[in-house]
Amino acid sequence: MKIHSAEFLLSASSKRQFPASTLPEIAFAGRSNVGKSTLINSLLNRKKLVKTSATPGKTQLINFFKINEKFIFVDLPGYGYAKVPQSVKQKWHNLVEDYLSERKTLRNVVLLIDCRHDPTLQDRQLLDWLEYYQRPSLIVASKIDKLKRGQVQKNLQKIKHGLSIELAPIGHSSMQHGSREDIWKKLSPWIKS
Ligand code: GDP
Repeated sequence: MKIHSAEFLLSASSKRQFPASTLPEIAFAGRSNVGKSTLINSLLNRKKLVKTSATPGKTQLINFFKINEKFIFVDLPGYGYAKVPQSVKQKWHNLVEDYLSERKTLRNVVLLIDCRHDPTLQDRQLLDWLEYYQRPSLIVASKIDKLKRGQVQKNLQKIKHGLSIELAPIGHSSMQHGSREDIWKKLSPWIKS
């Protein structure tokens, strides 16, 4: 995918702030620190369009980026950070559910899972939510460079079983750019208007 332009649109802390738009949207979700910002930057060939958070899990904002004037990337707030108070978790829940349940232009949600770990209860709950709202999803296993070569396929299968999904996730590493085109291939049909 050739990226001509990638611009930050806005951050929303409630559904009233979601931008009015008719462009197709791809959202990215996952635990704090799973590598979500890094993946988005890598897909867009930008170093720092999406800033990596110094205090993971503290910001409950949805960030919108307009790409090539044709589609929108949406960075959902990360979850699963242990030190976050209940009130912040509730805010995450409300904000993300408003987005997933109501956003008419949302086409696909990329769910990132750290390839080294089994999916968490929250990962599974998010996937259940996506199924409930009939949102197509693409599961990507991040940081595969952290595994020994022989371990990668085993862990992808473990994640597949852990999430009870039909296909194994796409393995991705920001250190090796090979899987970027695989991810674009899967996403391209969803961003055609
Ligand atoms: P986010 O909280 O999900 O947005 O996670 P970040 O993109 O900020 O990444 C969290 C940390 O993991 C940072 O230190 C990244 O440099 C690192 N990271 C992200 N992707 C990869 C990857 O594919 N391989 C390795 N080794 N580290 C990664």
